[in-house]
Amino acid sequence: MRSVSLRAKSLSEYERIVGPEPVAEIRRLAEPLRGARVVHVNATSHGGGVAEILHNLVPLMRDVGLDASWQVLDAGQLFFEITKRIHNALQGMPLDLTEAQRRIYLDTQQENATELPDADIVIAHDPQTAALRSFAGPRGASWIWRCHLDSTNAHERVWQYLVPYLRLHDAAIFTMEQFARSDLGLRHMLFSAPSIDPFSEKNRPLAADVCERILRAFRLDTQRPLLVQISRFDPWKDPLGVIDAYNIVKEHLPEVQLALVGSIADDDPEAKDFYARSVAHAGDDPDIKCLTDLDGIHDREVNAFQRSATVVVQKSLREGFGLTVSEGLWKGKPVVAVGTFRVPADSPNLIESKSFKLYLNSFNQTAFDNLEAVSAAMTGDLSAAAGSPVAVALEPLSQRPQASIGMPEGILLDDLDIACDRYQPAPDLLACLPGASVEETLYSHLLKSNCLVTGQPDWAMVVIRYRGAPIDRAGLLRYIVSFRNHNEFHEQCVERIFTDIQQRCRPAALAVYARYTRRGGLDINPFRSTGECYGRPENIREIRQ
Ligand code: UDP
Repeated sequence: MRSVSLRAKSLSEYERIVGPEPVAEIRRLAEPLRGARVVHVNATSHGGGVAEILHNLVPLMRDVGLDASWQVLDAGQLFFEITKRIHNALQGMPLDLTEAQRRIYLDTQQENATELPDADIVIAHDPQTAALRSFAGPRGASWIWRCHLDSTNAHERVWQYLVPYLRLHDAAIFTMEQFARSDLGLRHMLFSAPSIDPFSEKNRPLAADVCERILRAFRLDTQRPLLVQISRFDPWKDPLGVIDAYNIVKEHLPEVQLALVGSIADDDPEAKDFYARSVAHAGDDPDIKCLTDLDGIHDREVNAFQRSATVVVQKSLREGFGLTVSEGLWKGKPVVAVGTFRVPADSPNLIESKSFKLYLNSFNQTAFDNLEAVSAAMTGDLSAAAGSPVAVALEPLSQRPQASIGMPEGILLDDLDIACDRYQPAPDLLACLPGASVEETLYSHLLKSNCLVTGQPDWAMVVIRYRGAPIDRAGLLRYIVSFRNHNEFHEQCVERIFTDIQQRCRPAALAVYARYTRRGGLDINPFRSTGECYGRPENIREIRQ
């Protein structure tokens, strides 16, 4: 038996991902077990999901106070050939074990059992360690059999052979209830989902240029679509079926490439044979790459392949779990879109832009199935915050949303020769001139107000459209300039301009619209009108936005 050395990990770091409550709960649950000697035993320290889980789980068990360790069986090639067959039989393949094979299976475990360190709890993983308990003597430890396979279709003879050994355990853990056989007959049956580690070399963020470099090193074209299956070369992972599927795709998409990436694990004697069969099945297609750890594929490379894939494939015929699926999902790529959010002017609350920006940023590193799901989440949250229905429209940049820059049709006030000496809103500057009713659009780029919270300046183009007695344009421009030292939110400024003009000039119809320069990626364009006669303006950007 060989002890696996592990790097330290800290559970607290995971608060960044799951929040403080689950971490606190794990610590609370671990407290009564402080100091308990927990020994995991399995067949290999690399290649495959069990090794992947233990590399991450055992250090975290240590971090919460358990005296956890991980031991790997010392075993020969024949043992692994037999246990791989038992593994296959537990997934339903027929198998008759000869007497000689049973001997090797048991003798190897008996030898290993003598080297088992003293423990309070032993967790024996999968069929390779199923008989260990029977040789461990009465040393007082509690034994758990951790089955990572779906045992429900197990070949009956092999299952009946294993059951007496399994029944010596105090408990069994399966990945999910549906994978457990009810005739196992253990009093304690527990279920625990497998997991990936977001901070492991395989899953942590990897820059796009690093991914590209790695792919190019394996002679893949980073500009062309790529199908990737990361899996051991094994009948259940169906690499030959993946090649067949790729060939179908290739007929429609000739530039597609396929990478079959699979490590050759110590305990998997079938791997070399299946690798050779995959290479043969691929034929002389230069766009299919069959790669293994012997080619230099390690965790970082797996990470790069998963991140660079156009499609991550997992064509398993039977799975106890499939960590690679979670790994693929975890690596969702960032997507950028332009969002338009319309908040009704009469909503009880306005959404302050700094907190809005923080809210939008909270979507970073969150995976969604599609844009509609993002839109639905934002619609719900923002409507609740505003207290009125908020309309959300998201347009992916890849679809090139039409965004034009332009000026309103109307009369620019900024060339008027006025004297400016008022720098706080001065509605008394607003007045009407004698004359017949007019309908006109006046606009100015000279609106400046300051943020109510930070005092930072904001600039805007403001557009006033009205029907009624002619408004004194010079007075209106001086009024617009008078906002320069005023601290208020954009929406409030527009509301103030609207009400001041209404009160002072009494137009029959009025619309006020401002387009503020962009801050923190957001431009705020409040629009206020007396109703239908002046509908919503088109979303045309001001030159400074
Ligand atoms: N894996 C790897 N390199 C490979 C092939 C697989 O690191 O070349 C990893 C893979 O990323 C995943 C694990 O091995 O973390 C496989 O777990 P899964 O549950 O998908 O399948 P298993 O091999 O346990 O049946």
